[in-house]
Amino acid sequence: MLIMQLVMLLWSYFSVVLTDPGGVPPNYRPIVDEERGDVDRLTGSEFSSLTTSEPTHARIRYCRKCNHIKPPRCHHCSVCGRCVLKMDHHCVWVVNCVGAQNYKYFLLFLFYTLLETSLVTLSLLPYFVAFFSDGEIAGSPSTLATTFLAFVLNLAFALSVFGFLIMHASLVSGNTTTIEAYEKKTSPKWRYDLGRKRNFEQVFGTSERYWFIPAYSDEDLRRMPALQGLEYPSKPDLDSQEF
Ligand SMILES: [Zn+2]
Ligand SMILES: [Zn+2]
Repeated sequence: MLIMQLVMLLWSYFSVVLTDPGGVPPNYRPIVDEERGDVDRLTGSEFSSLTTSEPTHARIRYCRKCNHIKPPRCHHCSVCGRCVLKMDHHCVWVVNCVGAQNYKYFLLFLFYTLLETSLVTLSLLPYFVAFFSDGEIAGSPSTLATTFLAFVLNLAFALSVFGFLIMHASLVSGNTTTIEAYEKKTSPKWRYDLGRKRNFEQVFGTSERYWFIPAYSDEDLRRMPALQGLEYPSKPDLDSQEF
């Protein structure tokens, strides 16, 4: 049980570390919806916006540092020195940016870390209780100290990861990234909010068999542009093409 979880934890961890979160392809041109006219109504505060002659073309976001047009939900990471697709945050723990193509792996890494640390905490609980009872405890003082420390550290880790996971669960259910939530773009109406179930699928894919492993089914990769990170279905899209 513990070993299985550890395998999943390591698999998820290396998937986040080694998977490119997604960069902007050279000569990227946004797909302009002729009917709706807009590309992305969002504007990054740190970047200038090019306003096209057509008023309906709201604003096209441009990254001055990389000198290219930014796809929707893309942000510039100052640590990586490049634009990252659907950037969530730059994570020092995984020495990588967390974005469109590795966000699911990051969440699974958190999930398995929580399971692992919770199980270790539980398995050490009897020793911890014995430590404070008057009963006779087996083991040398140094082993006891190590066990005590392991218990406290695992508990602290489990609790903080739990809090982080709860935060991300609420982000996923609203189809927002940490950056987007921080910039308070969710109010009043968030255009990428497709409803809780679809929002979940936008990150985890539609095939249940793949929900708990850091991978996607070929079908999902083919059918869901959001997993690549350049295009995202938004509410008006779904209204016009019912599926
Ligand atoms: Zn950039
Ligand atoms: Zn980064």
